[in-house]
Amino acid sequence: MGTLEDINDKKGIALFSGGLDSSIAARIILEQKIKVIAVTFKTPFTAVDWALRMGKALGIELRVIERYDDYMNIVKNPKFGYGKNMNPCIDCKIFMLKKAKELMEKEGADFVFTGEVLGQRPMSQQREQLKLIEKESGLEGYLLRPLSAKLLEPTIPEIEGTVDREKLLGIKGRGRKEQIALAKKLGLTDFATPAGGCLLTDPEFSERLGDALKHGEEDIELLKLGRHFRTESGAKIVVGRNKEENRRIRELAREGDKTVEIIDFPGPTVLLRNGNNEDTEIAASLALRYSDCKEDRAKATMDGVTIEAKRGIEGRVNPIGRPVLRDKTETQVR
Ligand code: SF4
Repeated sequence: MGTLEDINDKKGIALFSGGLDSSIAARIILEQKIKVIAVTFKTPFTAVDWALRMGKALGIELRVIERYDDYMNIVKNPKFGYGKNMNPCIDCKIFMLKKAKELMEKEGADFVFTGEVLGQRPMSQQREQLKLIEKESGLEGYLLRPLSAKLLEPTIPEIEGTVDREKLLGIKGRGRKEQIALAKKLGLTDFATPAGGCLLTDPEFSERLGDALKHGEEDIELLKLGRHFRTESGAKIVVGRNKEENRRIRELAREGDKTVEIIDFPGPTVLLRNGNNEDTEIAASLALRYSDCKEDRAKATMDGVTIEAKRGIEGRVNPIGRPVLRDKTETQVR
């Protein structure tokens, strides 16, 4: 066990999500009296709440890197393809590790480490892919995976003695029993679910995103709300499912968008983007269908103008992915 001075002359940069694996990895490195600087990424598809929470619990310094445009380029055109959904995990890891490498150089740190486990994920954590990610990120020899280190080739920090390889682990596979037991032993609780924070792994969201990109749309925030439909002409219709979604939909409406609501009855705000006259009628019909009004016709307001909403034409649209974010109020709006 080193002295307090030892803590400061060795540094590791952690790729940190606040999930079970990256938290255990950070703890293992901290136990070796190595200073940990954690880095987490805020993208249109990931939040940083868990990283902030666990970073605080572990008492480590956490840097948040916010990326949009360059990250979107990867999502739209991944060199190494997608996983089961629209998750470009290999490209994403390489992207994040390149940023971690920059931080390593800037901070004069000794290595970068992650919570990756050999064989845990089919797309990005097989032996070959771990090697590929290491090479492509420019971190050859300097990328440590503390949870599986004993099953992988020794890295430079292990060879040079910066990190004690004996105290690292040899976990592999998809099971999480070992990590859960270890977390308990280390006094760590309360984790984000694996990949639970990444919308790109969600099949419904991926369907919406794929459809949006096909139509040249990049309004990611809108994809997280309501029910989505595409009309024959290619227009997009979004139907709010509760008051909060209705408010957000109005907020996210852009110039040229139309919003429709049924007058005198509770119901959704319906947003129409790039629609023609027929699409306006369909949007009004959808507003009626999901409102509390039981009549076949009702008055609706479209951007302050009163129009008529009729039942029977709302079926002329294709739904795109089921609603992504479900909440307790969903049953109140049909
Ligand atoms: S799950 Fe999402 S955040 Fe994680 S590596 Fe894959 S694309 Fe990136």
